[in-house]
Amino acid sequence: MGKRLGDNVLFDTIRRINKLLLPAEKRRGLRLVFLTLIGVMIDVVGLATLVPVMMAATNPKFVRRNEYMNWLYELGNFESHSSFMIFLAVALLLVFIAKNGITLLINYWQSRFAFRVATNLARRQYIKYYERGFLYFKETNSADTINNIVNIPNFFASGILISTINFISELAVIAFIVAAIALVNVSLFVALVIVLLPSGFAIYNLTKNKLYTLGKEMIELKSSTYSRLNQAIFGYVDVKLNNKEHHFLDAYVTRQSRLNTNNMLKFLISLIPSRSLEIIAVLGIMIIFLYTFLFSDRPDRLFSFIAVFAAAAFRVLPSMNRLLAALMGIRNHLFALQILEEGDLPTGMTYREVVPVRFKKSIEFRDLTFQYESANLPAVQELSFTVQKGEKIGIVGESGSGKTTLMNILLRFLVEQEGGIYIDGVQLSPEHKPGWRELIGYVQQNVFLMDASLKENVAFGTPQNEINLERVRSALKQASLLSFAETLPQGIETRIGEQGAMLSGGQRQRIGIARALYWNSQVLVFDEATSALDMDTEQAITESIEALSEGQTLFVIAHRITTLRHCDRIIEMKNGRLVGSYTYEELIRSKMG
Ligand code: ADP
Ligand code: MG
Repeated sequence: MGKRLGDNVLFDTIRRINKLLLPAEKRRGLRLVFLTLIGVMIDVVGLATLVPVMMAATNPKFVRRNEYMNWLYELGNFESHSSFMIFLAVALLLVFIAKNGITLLINYWQSRFAFRVATNLARRQYIKYYERGFLYFKETNSADTINNIVNIPNFFASGILISTINFISELAVIAFIVAAIALVNVSLFVALVIVLLPSGFAIYNLTKNKLYTLGKEMIELKSSTYSRLNQAIFGYVDVKLNNKEHHFLDAYVTRQSRLNTNNMLKFLISLIPSRSLEIIAVLGIMIIFLYTFLFSDRPDRLFSFIAVFAAAAFRVLPSMNRLLAALMGIRNHLFALQILEEGDLPTGMTYREVVPVRFKKSIEFRDLTFQYESANLPAVQELSFTVQKGEKIGIVGESGSGKTTLMNILLRFLVEQEGGIYIDGVQLSPEHKPGWRELIGYVQQNVFLMDASLKENVAFGTPQNEINLERVRSALKQASLLSFAETLPQGIETRIGEQGAMLSGGQRQRIGIARALYWNSQVLVFDEATSALDMDTEQAITESIEALSEGQTLFVIAHRITTLRHCDRIIEMKNGRLVGSYTYEELIRSKMG
């Protein structure tokens, strides 16, 4: 009957789960389905032991007449009915303790399985999004990505995986009991099917679409609620200065309220099966009444008929309830499955062997062309020039001329469509990426700082105990930060706060420089803030250009020409093309007119 109930959703879901899980997880899942089945059978059988014990209690003759009871009585050498009853009561208690212990154990295995799958899926989601690359993170709302990594795997594990396992096992229980009834009494079986099948079907149909929309809406709402909060937190200063506190508060609360309403509705809908199933059970009893009175030739059997129906319903109805709940859970979380299915879900980080890049002589840009997918014109066009090792190159050009794009190509965040970058004559290809990145460092317009100590920010991503303090100090010294670091309450151990709130623009820039120096980068790229340029930042960059050793090759994007006075050569970009190459003096002269 569940097959009709679930229409295609069950088979469809199993097929999709099968595609998503790793082989080891599938094996563990199958084993769990099997154990859950055994568990529910034990539950049914355990419950059934109540019947003979009740009969023995109410009717002492039953013990002697029933072959098994008699056997047990003889075996224990019982002297009286009451001592036998004490024995039965204790045995019954033990059976129920065991039965519920086993159920609890199976619940534990289920949740352990679910959370392991969820953790692994979260890991795979992380890798999936991470491998989408640079532009994905620049162009996508981070709240969506975070939600898809943090929440979706859990929704899937508890809402779909466990629901499916429960669905299968409850279906088996119902089939088991209904089959037993069919063996004993065919007309009762027919009565049960006539009552329960259409009503279960009706309840499911009534709720399924609403549950699906609720689930889908909920995931969208979660992510937009987060992103509203993010805006309010990160935009604190702007929110306040523009007197928009109410607007931001309302925007957040509206979404939170819709989210909570959805939660409430979902809870309400989940109550429907248990409430309506009781009514259906009474309906069943009424039908049996009518049937025996109108069509049966033996109305005296009415009582036993109803008793069996009630006993069956006692176990079948909760099962139906759980079956419907499982089905509703699947419906409600199908959206999570869809998100996990978007794009290939990798099993692990693609490991790229580090092919070392030899850089002794030169970096050559040869006919380099790159166009953003959404753009009509290339951001970098047929650009060619060669840089000798140790040269310090300035890059100028109006905003939008392609300077940052060019540097992102050099850093291999973007890959050219035509031409290439040649290091000592060898073209950079995907397998060179990790090797090349060991040589190149990047000081961004807006240096990314972690909410961690100064030394951790310098030795970025290195575990605490592996940080080379000697190198941190010398990097800080070269970046003119050591004296500042020494004024901090805990020196280089001082936490610098999320977004480096306690630092000036120049100090942030210097931390970026120290980071590049810590890793001993051979090639350094500076992208100076084009707008809000402060003297301190400019000073930091100018100083490092001057101070860095001969061997290091520098690319410096500068807004203010004076930043570049120590550069060997300055190139000018316009509309993605290279339009000039000057010495500092030549540039000054040409700009002066
Ligand atoms: P610059 O650093 O010289 O100011 P950019 O390299 O940032 O210039 O930008 C070059 C051109 O590419 C600009 O026209 C800009 O609008 C465009 N652009 C930059 N990033 C993207 C992107 N992610 N998608 C589409 N176009 C982009
Ligand atoms: Mg730029």
